[in-house]
Amino acid sequence: MAKVFIGIGSNLFNPIYQVKLALKKLRKNPLLEGLRPSPLYLSPPVGSINQPHYCNAVAEFSTLLEPEALLDELQALEYEQGRKRLTKWGPRTLDLDILLYEDLALETARLTIPHPRMFERGFVLIPLQDLLPSSYLPGGQNIKKLLKKCADNKCVKKLQ
Ligand code: ADP
Ligand code: MG
Repeated sequence: MAKVFIGIGSNLFNPIYQVKLALKKLRKNPLLEGLRPSPLYLSPPVGSINQPHYCNAVAEFSTLLEPEALLDELQALEYEQGRKRLTKWGPRTLDLDILLYEDLALETARLTIPHPRMFERGFVLIPLQDLLPSSYLPGGQNIKKLLKKCADNKCVKKLQ
């Protein structure tokens, strides 16, 4: 079984509801075991597009799926919750990103693991730290040190 961390984000159509619904469906998916969700966070959008705030969370689970098959599973869930790919980095009902897959480093046409932008995003690192109290990522990086360099680390607010 591979231990996986995914990032979950939504900023359309009741984002808190969308993230909770996604977590419920992930928990029920027989291909994913032992789901452990972080608390939910509210964070401002990154980039120049004017769009609503995001609800973000991170979840850990174990799976026998290979990375690309896992991406298929996550993308099916994005589409189930009405995800439309209109503009890159634009608003979305559900975004599911594979952050870490064991300590694998992978670069294919469809997948880059670890997720290339996770190390500079407070809205990923803060919930990740909730799940990894030691503050060390599987690759050995220290989350606290990475967070100091995140521009958004002060504006990510815990929701529950
Ligand atoms: P983003 O999450 O970067 O805002 P999208 O969710 O629209 O953008 O994803 C665009 C593409 O990114 C996906 O079709 C997928 O093939 C690719 N991708 C590359 N690496 C990853 C990853 N680690 N997790 C999820 N998608 C990824
Ligand atoms: Mg994505």
